[in-house]
Amino acid sequence: PTDPAALWSTLTPGPDGLVAAVVQHADSGEVLMLGYMNAEALARTLTGGRVTFWSRSRQKLWEKGETSGHTLELRGLHVDCDADALLVQAVPRGPTCHTGAPSCFFRPVGEPPAPRPSAVFEQVFAEICERKAGRGMTNRDGKSYVRELLAAGVPKIAAKLAEEAGELAEALAETDRDHVAREAADLVFHALVGLAHADVALADVAAVLERRMGRSGLDEKAARTQTAASPA
Ligand code: AMP
Ligand code: ZN
Ligand code: ZN
Ligand code: ZN
Repeated sequence: PTDPAALWSTLTPGPDGLVAAVVQHADSGEVLMLGYMNAEALARTLTGGRVTFWSRSRQKLWEKGETSGHTLELRGLHVDCDADALLVQAVPRGPTCHTGAPSCFFRPVGEPPAPRPSAVFEQVFAEICERKAGRGMTNRDGKSYVRELLAAGVPKIAAKLAEEAGELAEALAETDRDHVAREAADLVFHALVGLAHADVALADVAAVLERRMGRSGLDEKAARTQTAASPA
């Protein structure tokens, strides 16, 4: 129950009286488009539940999809740190871009930046989970190393983990940084297979790490020893 006028009064529109509104797919998080809202566009969006902008080119209110039928159904709304931009979570009814693309942002500019490490870990884990579900890539003989590991179960996965940990430990004793990276990749990969086998999500691991991050490693170790020694 957001009062549109009250919300607008908390915003800091630009000199043109508009705030930028980034629209994001409510389920996937994909960035769909950028539009601009004035007070009335925001009010209509909130009361009607369909995302409405102020069209700068046509100088009039514009309910997205009013001619194409490709509307954006409102699901959530965030204001940015300095209150001059909105993040609109919406479910699109059809392609959001007038070109027919799902998102307006389908044109990469120049070389794509290297993916963030965490994104790569997530992607690898997602692919492992796909194999577990019986989907996805196999080699020419229809075999999948991941699926074989998962089928062989804990003894095989545990043996590979121990083996790769040993190899990483050996690589650390050398000076070849590429070798260290390769062995660490092997170890992380098999750890991810182990997580998938145990139905533990990456988010569960991240949550543990995040809880620990607040304190120093030594405090954390002490706290864990205490908990182990004196269970509640
Ligand atoms: P629609 O709101 O989908 O009915 O489209 C009406 C008009 O708005 C189109 O003819 C386009 O000129 C423009 N338009 C539609 N979608 C977009 C968009 N995602 N970004 C910019 N302009 C758009
Ligand atoms: Zn801002
Ligand atoms: Zn577009
Ligand atoms: Zn290895």
